[in-house]
Amino acid sequence: MRPLDLATLEVAPRRARVHTALRDAEIDWLVVTSATNVRWLTGFTGSNATLLITDDRWELFTDTRYATQAPVELATNGLDVEVVVGGRPFDRAAAAAGSRRVGVEADHVTWATMMPLIGEHGADAFVATAGLVERLRMVKDAAELARIRAATAIVDDALAATRPALVPGVSELQLARRLDDHIRAAGAAGPAYDTIVAGGPNSALPHAFPGMRPLAPGDLVVIDVGAEVDGYRSDMTRTFVLGDPTDDQQRQLDVVLAAQEAGVAAAVSGATGADIDTAARTVIEAAGWGGEFGHGTGHGVGLDIHELPRVNRTSTDVVVANTTVTIEPGVYLPGIGGVRWEDLCLVTASGAAELLTRAPKEPIVSL
Ligand code: ZN
Ligand code: ZN
Repeated sequence: MRPLDLATLEVAPRRARVHTALRDAEIDWLVVTSATNVRWLTGFTGSNATLLITDDRWELFTDTRYATQAPVELATNGLDVEVVVGGRPFDRAAAAAGSRRVGVEADHVTWATMMPLIGEHGADAFVATAGLVERLRMVKDAAELARIRAATAIVDDALAATRPALVPGVSELQLARRLDDHIRAAGAAGPAYDTIVAGGPNSALPHAFPGMRPLAPGDLVVIDVGAEVDGYRSDMTRTFVLGDPTDDQQRQLDVVLAAQEAGVAAAVSGATGADIDTAARTVIEAAGWGGEFGHGTGHGVGLDIHELPRVNRTSTDVVVANTTVTIEPGVYLPGIGGVRWEDLCLVTASGAAELLTRAPKEPIVSL
């Protein structure tokens, strides 16, 4: 494994940004229960993390497994945050609920957590927030982009190295394992999600799991793969066909590619997720396959593989410079085969988005 040379993440400046967002939302305190949001705000990488943001101090609640790690990570990131091991953050928050407006992350708290608190303190004691920290995470800084770029480059290389093994007889699982091995050998923490290799009829399942079926001549093969570098992820899909494509397969490949290019062209600063989705979807609908493209056109990518902005029919999320989004339309013909093209794009201040994923879109595997 070769070490990756990455600039240090600048975590501390995010503190001022979240306090501004809280003021704008008229929230005094916030209980941050999303581990990803806690990581983005503090640099703490543990799996058990609740951050209590008060007017003037931050407290990080975790358990004994992280009693040593948490203070080290916080200090490394230049944060003055008290670590509380084994404490009860919601009790702390509830005690202030009478005098302060206390926000909770509605998408990241459970019924079991909230019901007793509401029973004790009343329904007005807490304010449900949604996407408050996630919206801040949409725009990436230089050090974050360096990690995402590294994760995309690793996947480009892994696919190039695996391409010669894409032949009839090999199983989806064997290919997926090869990709994952290359990703780890290149210095990534691992795949960004469960690598998808889906051949023949399986390629018509947008979220197929790789299995033992050997690939056969004439198969469409969808490979959806990403890497994780220091918490940040990449996401890319390429489609292949084993041997000369039939006319129908060629049309399917061409239509989805045209849709994907239209989506990328629409991913400019100021566009909404719905604008981008419409640009891609219109191409597929015009070809008569609107019903065979069921999912959204894309999503944001960062610490989470799926994060804001949403890129679908109804999304009002606006992309701006340094937002990272995937553009990944597909056409899935049940029992026959599927095609998806996916790039991870960086929205720029003006002009076209930059394609971070660079692997060629050359689907034909000569037999
Ligand atoms: Zn993907
Ligand atoms: Zn994706």
